[in-house]
Amino acid sequence: MKPKISTPGFFLRRYPSSPAHVIRRHYVSTSSPFKQRRPWLRVAVVTIAATGLGAYVRSRQENQSTTLNPLSFTPYSLISKEPVSSSGSIFTLKAPRPDSDNERVYEETWETGIWSVMFKQPQLQIGRDYTPLPPLLTEDGDEATLRFYIRRDPFGEMSRYLHGLEMGATVEMRGPQIECEIPEDTQRILFIAGGTGIAPALQAGHTLLRRTNEVHKPTIHILWANRRRDDCAGGHNNSTMTSTSQRSWFSRFVGSSTTSPAVVENDSSSPSSPSLVVKELEALRSQYPEQVTVDYFVDEENTFIGKKEILNFAKCTSLQQTPKRNMILVSGPEGFISYMAGPKVWAQGMELQGSLQGIIKELNLHEWMIWKL
Ligand SMILES: Cc1cc2nc3c(=O)[nH]c(=O)nc-3n(C[C@H](O)[C@H](O)[C@H](O)COP(=O)(O)OP(=O)(O)OC[C@H]3O[C@@H](n4cnc5c(N)ncnc54)[C@H](O)[C@@H]3O)c2cc1C
Repeated sequence: MKPKISTPGFFLRRYPSSPAHVIRRHYVSTSSPFKQRRPWLRVAVVTIAATGLGAYVRSRQENQSTTLNPLSFTPYSLISKEPVSSSGSIFTLKAPRPDSDNERVYEETWETGIWSVMFKQPQLQIGRDYTPLPPLLTEDGDEATLRFYIRRDPFGEMSRYLHGLEMGATVEMRGPQIECEIPEDTQRILFIAGGTGIAPALQAGHTLLRRTNEVHKPTIHILWANRRRDDCAGGHNNSTMTSTSQRSWFSRFVGSSTTSPAVVENDSSSPSSPSLVVKELEALRSQYPEQVTVDYFVDEENTFIGKKEILNFAKCTSLQQTPKRNMILVSGPEGFISYMAGPKVWAQGMELQGSLQGIIKELNLHEWMIWKL
């Protein structure tokens, strides 16, 4: 497994502390050599500076990469934004010019496993990671586009910025960053996803299942938890029931009790038409009918991923005894990952897996390799 590519110093994953350019914008020198006495000199210097700056910007634009790469930011343009729910949309971004190298970059990463890219917010100079969705089956090989399922956090800097962009706006990104390699001989994946953590689950399905052949038929089971039905409208479970007897990972962190006495068969609770993400999960299922199963869990319906749901799949499948052939992947908000498998940790400027904790540790699933995304 590869660690994530480190973030260069000037792009912070979180808030920058007092960016220097903001402070300088308000700085007024009282000892300017241009004051009143030599206005022509000021005009000349400003003109030269502007010409130089223009040339510099033009040369940078000309040299700007048109192929996604991890070292510099490549400008993409926003060509569509389709709502998935009240809080998230699928963004489609197109590379600046048709460039056959992008096809190669994407193809190599799809073969490897789960990956992300970093978007830049130009005004605040901050970067955030996002997970490309697999190409649509219906797409006529438009290799220049990448799609992302992005949740709008009303208090989040980057997601608010992205959701406010107009069509045609530029979004700069760099990558790919490999988040988790899926070994070639992987047989089974149990993917436990919370919210937009479904994007890497779709990636895992795409990478794993395209390796299907006459003798190799890998399987993936996805457990997808959301706070509201709206987030996974139209999703139907492949297993019969989901647990209502446990507190959700979310309630553990906010402290309220959501224990419910009722048993809900949440298969019947989704009369609405399927959301775009549910449609993509369904498309994967119809392409590989025997190899994909998905179960949906909704906090507001008191259905939660608990030990029973994990064990249903982890213990009821006949496993290859080589651990790396069987993977449990956990992806979602920090609290969700901590609840399932314990927190990831930062050390020496890198994000590391941390020890296995949470409910998965209590299940003693020694035949599975467990990875937190
Ligand atoms: C590998 C990877 C892949 C990802 N893929 C996706 C994806 O496909 N789709 C997606 O939607 N997201 C994805 N994310 C999450 C994404 O990177 C961002 O973290 C997310 O969009 C929020 O960023 P933001 O700038 O909008 O919010 P931020 O500005 O970072 O804020 C996040 C939240 O924290 C709160 N907060 C911030 N600072 C403080 C503070 N000092 N005190 C208290 N509260 C604070 C904010 O109010 C807000 O609610 C991924 C993350 C990783 C690591």
